[in-house]
Amino acid sequence: MSDKLFREGGPHNVKKTGPDEYTMTVALPKDSDGRYARECPVDTCSPGFFKVKPGTGITDGQEIAYCPYCRFGSTPKDFTTKEQLRYSKDIMVNEAYEGIERMLKSSLGLDSSGKKTMGGGFLSIEMSYNPGQKPRVWRPFEEEVRRDLVCPHCGLDHSVYGLATWCPDCGKDIFLTHVEAEINVVRAMLSDIGRRRENLGVRVATKDMENCLEDTVSIFEAVLRAEARRYLVAQNIAAEKIEHFFKKVGNAFQSVRRAEDIFTKEFNVSLLNALSEKDISKLVSAIEKRHSITHNLGVVDKKYIERARTAEREGREILVDADEIESVIDFSMKIFIAVHAQMFGQK
Ligand SMILES: [Zn+2]
Ligand SMILES: [Zn+2]
Repeated sequence: MSDKLFREGGPHNVKKTGPDEYTMTVALPKDSDGRYARECPVDTCSPGFFKVKPGTGITDGQEIAYCPYCRFGSTPKDFTTKEQLRYSKDIMVNEAYEGIERMLKSSLGLDSSGKKTMGGGFLSIEMSYNPGQKPRVWRPFEEEVRRDLVCPHCGLDHSVYGLATWCPDCGKDIFLTHVEAEINVVRAMLSDIGRRRENLGVRVATKDMENCLEDTVSIFEAVLRAEARRYLVAQNIAAEKIEHFFKKVGNAFQSVRRAEDIFTKEFNVSLLNALSEKDISKLVSAIEKRHSITHNLGVVDKKYIERARTAEREGREILVDADEIESVIDFSMKIFIAVHAQMFGQK
């Protein structure tokens, strides 16, 4: 019978590495897609949480891994999540529990069924040991991350929350790849509208289109906010000042013209230089339509007519068609590429 706290070998490859020292390997549990979670060690980093698929990206001796949100770089093990640490500790406690049980049985001279009979004849005492319940090891609970992406530079298959900027393996700027992935979701929804119109009717298809336009405008705003934030952080602007800036901006990035104004004044960046005047007015008109759809259930109001200067009469339903949304997507992507090149020197 062993009197060691840990038995060597086993599924966790336990090794005795010193008089009072053992090492064990705990394989990180993966999700159903074969990814496991990572967490940025920088406290202020948000959302700080992502997943990677082992066997993709840099597979040979990776020394530095990066946070996709703040680009903090450190050894890959520094990105272990709090849940994974908790899980590893639970496994260790579980192994030690078994070891303590073995040691106890051995020191008391109990047999394999945990019993020992002392004395004999008229007087015999039976001693038995009933082990308590072994602590249960719960798998790490990790929040679901929804956006999957393959880095075009190193091939790392990973998932992030929202819009990230950096590849966790090669550390390259893949912001526009993230944006493209978001936009492709809207394109996929758009391409399905014909089928949904046939199956579910015109009203559902119209609603789908309005939602696609709505999503495109949300992406437009989110991308401009992300670019503005990265720019301000790179200029070492204090966090409070950055928050103040975004308070002032409010929802201005939902409007092409107001966004253009802010990007010119604050960053000396031309928001619309990649588009012709005709394209710009098409974009402005489509985005103004979205304002009415969101705030007035698709019915034209006075404000809309003033702003978008369209011919639609008050009270008539605003019609958005798939081609129009397709153009908004194309124009937006052109704007993102141009803005990114101006602000961060990449295409
Ligand atoms: Zn980070
Ligand atoms: Zn990469």
